[in-house]
Amino acid sequence: MIVCSILPRDPAAALAAMRQAGAAGADAVELRCDLLEAADLRAILAGKPLPVIVACRPAWEGGRWRGTEGDRVGLLEEACLLGADYVDVEFKAYKDFPRREAKLIVSWHDFEATPEDLDGLLARMAALEPLVSKLAVTPRSAADAARLVEAQKRAQAPAACVPMGDFGEALRPLHVRYGGFLTYASLGPGAETAPGQPSIEELVRDYRAKTVDDETKVYAVLGDPVAHSRGPAVFNRLFRDLGLNARYVRIRVDDGRRLRDVIRAWELCGASVTAPLKEDARREVDEVDGTAEAAGAVNTIVAREGRLVGANTDAAGAVGEILDAARRKWRHGVYGLRALVLGTGGAARAIAHGLAAEGARVIVAGRTPERARALAESVGGDFLQLSRLIEARAQVICNATPVGMGADESLFPKELWKADCVAFDAVYTPRATRFLREAAEAGAETADGVGMFLRQADGQAKLFLGRGFPAELLNEFRRRM
Ligand code: NAP
Repeated sequence: MIVCSILPRDPAAALAAMRQAGAAGADAVELRCDLLEAADLRAILAGKPLPVIVACRPAWEGGRWRGTEGDRVGLLEEACLLGADYVDVEFKAYKDFPRREAKLIVSWHDFEATPEDLDGLLARMAALEPLVSKLAVTPRSAADAARLVEAQKRAQAPAACVPMGDFGEALRPLHVRYGGFLTYASLGPGAETAPGQPSIEELVRDYRAKTVDDETKVYAVLGDPVAHSRGPAVFNRLFRDLGLNARYVRIRVDDGRRLRDVIRAWELCGASVTAPLKEDARREVDEVDGTAEAAGAVNTIVAREGRLVGANTDAAGAVGEILDAARRKWRHGVYGLRALVLGTGGAARAIAHGLAAEGARVIVAGRTPERARALAESVGGDFLQLSRLIEARAQVICNATPVGMGADESLFPKELWKADCVAFDAVYTPRATRFLREAAEAGAETADGVGMFLRQADGQAKLFLGRGFPAELLNEFRRRM
């Protein structure tokens, strides 16, 4: 059940919000009465267009109610008499609450942390025989979020485990997949009544949360941060177009040593791995393919018969884009050309190995000299300090650092660009980075991170599903992103 939570100041605002929530696809509304009075409640419940959960949160449970505790409980009792469909009573405040016809939700909120004994807490709440026990807590790590998912899966009685904040946010659209009874959404950005609430539109339209069931196959992007990832947009569109009961979510993972636990807890069929976990992923999987082995970095994990198989689609994604740009410029590939790679992380390793395999002479430059030297040696190339890029004399210049993402900066000095070269930037937010703009101004041919992203996603789809993206869909994303 998808519940849109609202915190209105008067009946007119409440009824307008309820109609909006219903139109956006909410199954019910949580009417937070913190700012209302009993008279308002009567008018609202008389005109409600959707089933209503009445809640009234005191300050000690993260709410805005400023009256007495007696009046607050009185308001909730009144709600039952006035026809509320559900009433939400805090476990800490529960004393033989007269629920009458209303169905009872017993709730526990923790805005600081995730309690240790989640199973015990759910069992104590379930002993009150509510319709559902709701546990809204704050995971502080991927491990906390995994514990919350596991508690949801193990719950013996109807339960709703709700993550507040971004760790574990995927449990919101996928609650049914793990046995959850309901999930909460907001009317839109700025209208959240608790941390981490997605908009109702995001749940219903982007994640198709209404058709998630216990058979839904789950894929995810794992990294830290993951909020910027375009993975959910492209993969969920692919799954929808192919008619697959599958969803792709973001899972923030703050510790690479937790990758296996995360994959197990969320029962992932496959995952994209992003910074800074690609080298950890190489260590955590059971086997790797040749590209991942060569690059020492895994950006794709497939769970196959209990084993985790690692692959790397970044190399093919980046090199494919670079080769296309090189052919536009010179009508041949990069064989025998000097290729400068800026950076020494997961993307840089994949690009350096991919270009070396195409016969390019690779030069690596990074801010950590030992890493640059080691990567250069692994591809039989040279290394340079970032302050001496003029010595690279490269025809292919690749940025594989995050420089240019967010801030309008470039590691490659503007005056060194020439018309006779190809520039490639792995950064894709923004698409037209300063690095690429300055290269284009000098007449260089350019290839951007969006192209790489789509090619590597296509490679991942082949590994996840045995088939890639339809060409029209890739072209649509190339135009739109
Ligand atoms: P990573 O493993 O964390 O590596 C980042 C690299 O950038 C490291 O070598 C780091 O140097 C270097 N670096 C960071 N900040 C720097 C700075 N201010 N000056 C100089 N060097 C700096 O990350 P990654 O996975 O390789 O990703 C790198 C970039 O590529 C990111 O922007 C990512 O979004 C993008 N990417 C795009 C795609 C795509 O499909 N388009 C795919 C993968 C990655 P140290 O080692 O010294 O810290």
